[in-house]
Amino acid sequence: MYYGFDVGGTKIEFGAFNDKLERMATERVPTPGDDYQALLHALHALVNKYDSEFGIKGTIGIGIPGMESVDDGAVLTSNVPAAKGKKLRDDLEALVGRPVRVENDANCFALSEAWDEEHQGKESILGLILGTGFGGGIVINGHVVSGRSHVAGEIGHTRMPIDGWFYLNDSKEGINAPLFDCGCDKKGCIDNYLSGRGFEQLYQHYYGEHIKAIDIITNHQSGEEKAVEHVDRFMELLAICLGNIFTAFDPNVVVLGGGLSNFDLIYEEMPKRIPKYLLSVGKIPTILKAKHGDSGGVRGAAFLNIN
Ligand SMILES: [Zn+2]
Repeated sequence: MYYGFDVGGTKIEFGAFNDKLERMATERVPTPGDDYQALLHALHALVNKYDSEFGIKGTIGIGIPGMESVDDGAVLTSNVPAAKGKKLRDDLEALVGRPVRVENDANCFALSEAWDEEHQGKESILGLILGTGFGGGIVINGHVVSGRSHVAGEIGHTRMPIDGWFYLNDSKEGINAPLFDCGCDKKGCIDNYLSGRGFEQLYQHYYGEHIKAIDIITNHQSGEEKAVEHVDRFMELLAICLGNIFTAFDPNVVVLGGGLSNFDLIYEEMPKRIPKYLLSVGKIPTILKAKHGDSGGVRGAAFLNIN
């Protein structure tokens, strides 16, 4: 049995999956505010409960909004204060008496999709989240690629490609491209342009109004002039950035998650717009909406232990 935990800022979701990767149990408990012992206890209690229920010791994977330090295994996260700076893997292993895997939640999202029946056997899957932020995860042959420092897939913190910058500069007469600050202390990270938040920031930059992404999309659907122009600009910028990313990774399949991934126009526009931004011999990958939605995190966490 594969146990997965999706540890978020407000809740912990637990899932148990059998050898056919079918979900056999689900449970949600609140994330303890900043009490590390309470967090350990909550995870330990769920493991004990389901070990007893299934009569087997499940494997354990944990997805977190953050990563483990490669130096000492301490959790680097700002969204789960209870785990911040703690050696969660070591401490939980001592309690449960078996190995524990801890992985970034965007990597878990990508892994969940990679183990969907449709994609099993594909060499490489790139998962991209167009949500509050823009993040990603890389899966090769069914396994997450974490990288030397566990930052592989942090595509949102690569900077705007120069062709994107020129495009934004030229896209509206008299208005220069915006150089947005990023939470990582750099400027121009694509997280601030391609996320749902970026979609709104770009609109505000060019039209001087803050409007929610969902309302801009509604206005676009009714043909409102600014929204139509904005969406066209965003689609081209997304194509430029994805073209650069695909040239670097050349994935077989790309799955999109997060709120903006529900904007169906993306799947029509990207295959038309991306090819001119690829290396000329590059082929565009299949781009699909993620299938597993909110359960991607817990599925991927569980599947960290598939060998
Ligand atoms: Zn950044």
